Amino acid sequence: MKIICIGRNYAKHAQELNNDVPQEPVFFLKPDSAILQKNKPFYIPDFTKEVHYEVEVLFRICRLGKNISTKFAPRYYSEVGLGIDFTARDVQQELKSQGLPWEKAKAFDASAVLGEFLPVDHFEDLSNIDFCLKKNGEIVQKGNTKEMLFDVNHLVAHTSKYMTLKIGDIIFSGTPEGVGKVEIGDRLQGFIGDKMMFDFMVK
Ligand code: ZN
Repeated sequence: MKIICIGRNYAKHAQELNNDVPQEPVFFLKPDSAILQKNKPFYIPDFTKEVHYEVEVLFRICRLGKNISTKFAPRYYSEVGLGIDFTARDVQQELKSQGLPWEKAKAFDASAVLGEFLPVDHFEDLSNIDFCLKKNGEIVQKGNTKEMLFDVNHLVAHTSKYMTLKIGDIIFSGTPEGVGKVEIGDRLQGFIGDKMMFDFMVK
């Protein structure tokens, strides 16, 4: 399976990192070796001094497809989850400044945290999902999917122009503003509405 991550899908987050708001979705991949799940602890890797959390709503692909239209996109995902796109921000800034690819900063082991997933029909409106991230009990990121520049159907349509979506693939749909550094001993808890979707420690 593959993990497709959308960059700069919330205007205020693009601004906080001094990026332009994109005209079409920006995406990059993480390998399946990046997955961290079941609330296992996250160990800060030794090649970075600045790992940032980015809480994101996830969509799990349930059907093989290529060149999917936005109209038929809802047939291609069946579950909604919450996760973290861990980013070695210092490494990413260095790569960005040199115009190099981001994998060292984005695709490392345990950089794709998967929390629980819920069936799509659990939600009344996928374009109105409240979510947040708490660090040590305090809310550090808060978003609603209505603030996404490109909604999930647009993301499925756009990404499937370039690569075949396969059953089990996961889309990380971008992070709202408020990203920040994690330290050893931090506890991260993610919520969709009032429901806790993950709860784990940084080590
Ligand atoms: Zn992200």
